[in-house]
Amino acid sequence: MRRSPSPGFIALFSSIISTLVVATLLLLFSENWYVVGVVSAINLVVSFFLFYLLLQYFIQQKIMMIYQNIYRFKAKDKKMLKLLNNPLSDPISDVSEEVLAWMQDNKKEILELKEQQKFRREFIGNVSHELKTPVFNVQGYIHTLLDGALEDTDVNRKFLKKAARGIDRLAETVEELTSISEFQSGKFKLNIEEFDFGELVTEVFEVIDSMARSRQVKLIFTKTGLRSTAVKADYKRIRQVLINLVVNAIKYGKKDGQVEVNCSSMDKQILVKVSDDGAGIETEHLNRLFDRFYRVDSHRNREEGGSGLGLSIAKHIVEAHEQTINVKSERGVGSTFEFTLAKA
Ligand code: ADP
Repeated sequence: MRRSPSPGFIALFSSIISTLVVATLLLLFSENWYVVGVVSAINLVVSFFLFYLLLQYFIQQKIMMIYQNIYRFKAKDKKMLKLLNNPLSDPISDVSEEVLAWMQDNKKEILELKEQQKFRREFIGNVSHELKTPVFNVQGYIHTLLDGALEDTDVNRKFLKKAARGIDRLAETVEELTSISEFQSGKFKLNIEEFDFGELVTEVFEVIDSMARSRQVKLIFTKTGLRSTAVKADYKRIRQVLINLVVNAIKYGKKDGQVEVNCSSMDKQILVKVSDDGAGIETEHLNRLFDRFYRVDSHRNREEGGSGLGLSIAKHIVEAHEQTINVKSERGVGSTFEFTLAKA
């Protein structure tokens, strides 16, 4: 930024001009160079101080007004106001630096607000879209049952089961949305404890055993170069991450295939890999996969009942642990999601 001339500089410049005028006038009436020199010197000193003090006073009054306006919007320490009352300060540069900083703060704030507004708009659209399908499904089945299908023993249980599945999906989506809004609002807190990751894998395999069976998927747990799988993390949250990844591997993997959870050592961390031998994901989708509501193939996945929030939640959780999560995938070979955890 170009610095404006200081009040001292302006005062010096003005006093030189006034001294030149005075000296010229004196030379018109007197030929005594000594007197002209002394009077000009006195004029230079006196006018310099006069100009300087007047300028300082005038600028400070104006700047004080600007400053007070800024502080009406921004409650900050009043260190600058004190500085402005100091006659030796350079108020123009000080205030312009402060105004620039204030402008940059405001610009950042406006950008953040715009970002939040965009997020809210998209979020509301996505949420209503996600809720619409199961709500209309359940509504359809219930009304069909009420309109007479309830007495039809061929279909009544089937329709009720379908309605129940719709309700389950609704509950799941609402739970995922609650997690997302928790991350978004910053209310999210980790409860770090030491636990055995191997035991967590066994527990998760038990929970999703029936799902794996229904797709004839074999679940495998392996360790590479690790004696202990003790980690330091939030048990409940990491359980959620593992469930999301293993459920995805079963859902999008091959029927009759296998899903492997592997742990290996990485200095102070454990690397967890969840791999499937499914159809894989095209490269163009990989860097958007962890975005909220992102689905590779919305039609296929809709049948599977996904909301596109699982991976985004997993990423939030892993990053809150200051760890990383990523994906590697090859079309026709399978996908591997990997994340790190701190060793206990
Ligand atoms: P969803 O609820 O749709 O499963 P996720 O956020 O868990 O949402 O996953 C986002 C998308 O990533 C899925 O819809 C699917 O298209 C793709 N995906 C996730 N895991 C796998 C996987 N193991 N194999 C292939 N595609 C996957």
